[in-house]
Amino acid sequence: MADSTFRATPIEDFDKIISTARSTFLSGRTKSLVWRKQQLRALYKLIDENSRAIVAALQRDLNKPTTEATVILDLNHIVFCLENLDKWAKPDYPEKGITEIGAGLSVVHEPYGVCLIIAPWNYPFDLVFKPLTSALAAGNVAVLKPSEITPNAATLIAELVPKYLDREAIFVVNGGVKETTALLEKKFDHCTYTGSTAVGKIIMAAAAKHLTPVVLELGGKSPVVLDPKLTPAELTRAAKRLVNTKFFNAGQTCIAPDYVLCPPALLQPLSAAVRDIVSTYFGSDPSTSPDLARIVNKNHTRRIGQLIDQQRAQPGAIVITGGKWDESRCYIEPTIIAGVKKDGPLMSQEIFGPALPILECADVDAAIKFIREGERPLALYVFTSDSRVAEKVHNACVSGSVVINDATYQYAIDSAPFGGIGHSGMGSLHGKYGFLAYTHSKTVLEKPLTWFSEKMDELTGRFPPYNPKNLES
Ligand code: NAD
Repeated sequence: MADSTFRATPIEDFDKIISTARSTFLSGRTKSLVWRKQQLRALYKLIDENSRAIVAALQRDLNKPTTEATVILDLNHIVFCLENLDKWAKPDYPEKGITEIGAGLSVVHEPYGVCLIIAPWNYPFDLVFKPLTSALAAGNVAVLKPSEITPNAATLIAELVPKYLDREAIFVVNGGVKETTALLEKKFDHCTYTGSTAVGKIIMAAAAKHLTPVVLELGGKSPVVLDPKLTPAELTRAAKRLVNTKFFNAGQTCIAPDYVLCPPALLQPLSAAVRDIVSTYFGSDPSTSPDLARIVNKNHTRRIGQLIDQQRAQPGAIVITGGKWDESRCYIEPTIIAGVKKDGPLMSQEIFGPALPILECADVDAAIKFIREGERPLALYVFTSDSRVAEKVHNACVSGSVVINDATYQYAIDSAPFGGIGHSGMGSLHGKYGFLAYTHSKTVLEKPLTWFSEKMDELTGRFPPYNPKNLES
């Protein structure tokens, strides 16, 4: 939004950066557990010692409330990885068959090598640091490409990384589409991209040229299903969590609830509840609330604002709360609109902003049908006190994750995988799943050259001339 000394990395430097990273990896030193732990501790220190600067950059880029700076999640994730790394890094010993009698058999988890990490602007630090934590825990070297849309964050990352981390192993490349496109022409051993589904396809196509494995953390429309049997008290509790998670970071969260499928009987009480809750959380004039982030830039403000305007002009649309926006201040009022139809403007794309459409939906079966007709969402939220309803919905619908009676909090769980499916992505990160995403599981089979092993070879009939009778059963 303002005042950074953002500088793009010259494209002519890319080859040198990648070749230095590659020779560091090939030296083998990043594979040692000592190096990995040193780097993880250094990353912890980087975040911890600079948390004020990080919060300040987030305020300049996104006007993020201090309590919404999710620095603590990155620190917790590093600690979790440090605590478990020895265990994860140990080889696995698979079951042996008759032909492996007397042989050694193990699976070692080897780092890929030079990993490219491309991050978006909505959580501009977390979405660099979380994948980096997993890449380092696995013993890789990395090239980081923060988002140019949050220039203060990108500049701070470029300044801090060489101060704290191994300068021969972890590099920051700054720039926009031109630089990212040039970077993608180079050969990497792994690529993690977090961002929109449309760009995810570009990344995957570029990676395919080098057969580079990818983790794609993408977006989409995450639905909310309400059980018609919710009691008034349960509905109010559900509404609080819904409003909280929808308007956190002004709705610019990949797993924010995108739309609500509401049974007819709950429309009126839900509308009353969310109107009251928005007013309690953000006051009568949310533009003065210190707890509401701004939209990242004017383009995105205009995009969301226009969707709201188009939506409220539709027949049957009812603005329950909000609706105002101001491009010059990148401000959008927390907005909830009922009476939205399947083909309404707010349903035409991932909203990624503080607007929540409510669609009338007869019952849970109709909600399931609706979700199954769309692309596979990153997250699915069900509010119900009936475990059979919860199970029915999540068994019937494919999604990256599912949360019953809350939203977005699955992201904070370091021990569980985080990732999408189909249009919302592929591969999972966080904790052990992140470690595995950044390692190749290599089978190591070691056979003896003894007299006994020769006899075993003969017994199994592996050498020609083959005896066709062996095939008769
Ligand atoms: P963005 O515009 O910052 O783009 C992300 C990265 O891609 C940036 O580093 C950018 O430089 C690069 N990029 C953009 N266009 C490119 C192109 N044409 N070619 C090559 N590189 C390009 O961020 P965004 O895409 O607006 O991010 C928002 C999206 O990210 C939303 O859809 C959101 O749901 C998704 N998201 C997903 C997750 C997740 O974990 N699944 C997390 C955060 C955001």
